[in-house]
Amino acid sequence: MNVFESLESEVRSYSRTWPTVFDRALGSELFDENGKPYLDFFAGAGALNYGHNNPVFKEALIDYIRRDGVTHGLDMQTVAKRDFLETFKRVVLEPRNLDYKVQFPGPTGANSVESALKLARKVTGRESIINFTNAFHGMTLGALSVTGNSMKRGGAGIPLVHATPMPYDHYLDGQTPDFIWFERLLEDSGSGLNEPAAVIVETVQGEGGINVARAEWLRALADLCKRHGILLIVDDVQMGCGRTGPFFSFEIAGIQPDIVCLSKSIGGYGLPMALTLLRPELDVWEPGEHNGTFRGNNPAFVTSAKALQEYWTSDKLEKSTLAKGEQIGRCLEELAQELKPAGLESRGRGLARGLAFDEPALAGRASAAAFERGLLMETSGPNGEVLKLMPPLTVTDEELERGLGIVVDSVRAVSA
Ligand code: PMP
Repeated sequence: MNVFESLESEVRSYSRTWPTVFDRALGSELFDENGKPYLDFFAGAGALNYGHNNPVFKEALIDYIRRDGVTHGLDMQTVAKRDFLETFKRVVLEPRNLDYKVQFPGPTGANSVESALKLARKVTGRESIINFTNAFHGMTLGALSVTGNSMKRGGAGIPLVHATPMPYDHYLDGQTPDFIWFERLLEDSGSGLNEPAAVIVETVQGEGGINVARAEWLRALADLCKRHGILLIVDDVQMGCGRTGPFFSFEIAGIQPDIVCLSKSIGGYGLPMALTLLRPELDVWEPGEHNGTFRGNNPAFVTSAKALQEYWTSDKLEKSTLAKGEQIGRCLEELAQELKPAGLESRGRGLARGLAFDEPALAGRASAAAFERGLLMETSGPNGEVLKLMPPLTVTDEELERGLGIVVDSVRAVSA
């Protein structure tokens, strides 16, 4: 028995999916300790949009460490934080006409969700939060309470007290968005849900199985929230930072959420970092009311500012993400046609792509077959039935084609 099996908790997961020991990583590849390369179509579940050890950020990070830049600064004012804030304002907010204040809620996505839920309740004086079936918002108790996955929530004994699972756009089968049932609930004072503080939504549910919400549905949701004084929280932890094409995934709908959660790729280099963006008038926090030791990861501010400067001062990355995403979509459609009896379905937007299997076990077997062939892909969805393709946005054409070749071989092998 190796030290991972003898010492690590049974909770370990990816180590079971990919039973090797990784050592190095560069661009779209990871190398195990024997030097075997693996193409990475997992990309830290959206934390590595710019690839591993991106050379531009690496140099900036090495420089910062060499000159003894502040590493840990709680929420003190530092030069690295100022540079990040100025860059974020100039590169991300101003060109999009977005007016948000920036909160540093802690290092992870769940920290951002917790602060968003707390703030929504404080601002509105209301309690309940509406979430959606198959949503994933994180593993802390608050974030878990709005996570629509009974396996994840159940073990912690969290019932759906303040949250209501609702049919997500993906399940409406292309029908016109119809929020009549939602409106009824909001008018029904006996339900206890007539005055929710907020609705929390992912524009594409990543962990939930690459369930894509249409722009039209998102606009109808935003409109409904406005009419009922409900705050709209978009959790862009996984789909933000360009994963679906534009910097914010909600840009396709032309909406401005009240609160936005960002993490994962915002740090640029895979370093822990999270932001909560709030409309300025919602900033009712008292000083120190929501704090935490790791709110100021200065090396992450350095790599984050570099990433914004390098990739978001032109529309090059957005365009290539959309083009590469369509290439994957076409490949998965063709595969679904070819293997019709297997009941495959291609899903996705930008470089968040999925292939759903009728038979959930087959998605897991396809992932294992791909691992044998040197490609890492996670499964998602309530029963792990969706093979998830999320390469770094910086994946090269050659890597993308090679990876897709392995996807096709692996899916054919398990569907035969
Ligand atoms: N929200 C979404 C949409 C996520 O995908 C995740 C992580 N997969 C989280 C929140 C939680 O982020 P973290 O794991 O960094 O706490």
